[in-house]
Amino acid sequence: MAAPVNALVELRGVAKHFPVARSLGEVVRGQHPAVRALDGVSFDIGAGDALAIVGESGCGKTTLGRLLLKLVEPTAGTIAFDGAALAGLSGEALKAFRRQAQLVFQNPFDALNPRFTIYRAVAEPLLNAGIDKSEHADRVAEAFRRVHLPDLERYLDRYPHQLSGGQLQRVVLARALVLTPRFLVADEPVSMLDVSVRAGILSLMREIREEMGLTAVYISHDLALVRYLCERTVVMYLGTIVEDGPTLEIVRRPRHPYTRALVAAVPVPDADQSRAPLPIIGSVPDARDPPSGCRFRDRCPHAFARCATETPPLRAVGEGHTVACHLDLA
Ligand code: SF4
Repeated sequence: MAAPVNALVELRGVAKHFPVARSLGEVVRGQHPAVRALDGVSFDIGAGDALAIVGESGCGKTTLGRLLLKLVEPTAGTIAFDGAALAGLSGEALKAFRRQAQLVFQNPFDALNPRFTIYRAVAEPLLNAGIDKSEHADRVAEAFRRVHLPDLERYLDRYPHQLSGGQLQRVVLARALVLTPRFLVADEPVSMLDVSVRAGILSLMREIREEMGLTAVYISHDLALVRYLCERTVVMYLGTIVEDGPTLEIVRRPRHPYTRALVAAVPVPDADQSRAPLPIIGSVPDARDPPSGCRFRDRCPHAFARCATETPPLRAVGEGHTVACHLDLA
C-alpha cells in the first residue's frame, strides 16, 4: 500500500514474540521457545483513515492492536504516533498519548466495572487523565450525545447489568470518546452483540468517526463488517501481512490465496462469485514454529518448491495494493 501522505501511525519491522515453555524440562534447560505473534510488520495509517486488520484467530491481529496502543512493547521494530516513537514516551508525553489513543473493547459485558455506575464508568478516564471534576458532567453528556444515548438521566445511576448489550456497547464507546481522542482501536467491536443490534452500532461507529475526524483501526475476522467501515484492509496470516489494499478491491478481487479463502468463507456483498473458492487445508500452524518460506504454504493449494525456501515479500499488484506471494496473481 502506498504510504499515506499524512501518516498518524507508522510501523516499521514490528515483531512481537511471547516466550513460553512447553514443559518443565524446557524451563530447567532455559529453553524458552517463543510464540511469534508478529514478525516484520510495516505499514502506515493515514490521519483520518479507517483501516481494517483481518485474519483468523491466531493471526496476530489482536497483538497488533495492543502494540498500537502501547499496551505491550514490541520485541523488535518501531511504532511512531504523530512522529514520536512510542518506545520513547514517558511522563507527560505518555499521558498525552493515552488521552489521544483509545481502545473499544470486544466484550461490553466485561469492559465495565460491575460495581461502578454508568456515570462513574464513563467519567473514569477523565479522572485518570487529571481533568478538573467541574468539567466531567458536561464531557460525559457530550459523549452520551455522540453515542445517541441522549436520555442521560435515565442511565447515569444505573449499573452495567441493568443495560442491554447494545446500550452497554454505546456506553463503552462513550467511555472511549470522553477524552475526545484522535485514534481509536476497536477489537471485534460487535462480535459479542446480538445480530439485531450490530448494524446500529456499526452505523454509529462510522458516523462518530466521520463527525470527529478520527483515525480508526477495526480488528475483525469478518470481511463483510470491515467492508462497511474501512476504506483499506490489511490481511494477516500467522503474524505477517499477506495482502494490503483498498477494501473494495480486496473484497471484489482478492489476490492472495488466503484472502480468497477468507472472502469465500463469508457472504460478502459485491464479492466476485466467479472466483472459485479455494479450499485451504488444515488449521493455522503452531506460531512457535512457523513454516519456513511462505508461512501459508502448508495450507496453500498452489504451494510449490520455492514457497518452502523463500519468504515472499509484499509487492505491488495495483494502485495502493500489495500482496505477499510468489505467484503472479491476476
Ligand atoms: Fe501459496 Fe506459495 Fe503464494 Fe505462499 S507464496 S501463498 S505458498 S503460492
